[in-house]
Amino acid sequence: MAYVVKQGCTFCGMCEAECPVGAIVLKKDGAQIDQEKCIQCGNCAENCASEAIVEVEDA
Ligand code: SF4
Ligand code: SF4
Repeated sequence: MAYVVKQGCTFCGMCEAECPVGAIVLKKDGAQIDQEKCIQCGNCAENCASEAIVEVEDA
């Protein structure tokens, strides 16, 4: 499983702030998750007010 950012990111920065391993950075087209660093904790998806982060089978 993996967490990915789909459409709808509003650049609020909440996911970046809530990620315990610093796997998220805000880029010009939205938040991006470094799959090498991500430990699949789900914090980012839970804290994204616009529900832009979803869990998928594989990134
Ligand atoms: S929490 Fe959601 S809307 Fe906010 S920066 Fe992250 S992906 Fe974008
Ligand atoms: S699932 Fe957890 S570790 Fe992975 S990007 Fe989201 S907050 Fe960071």
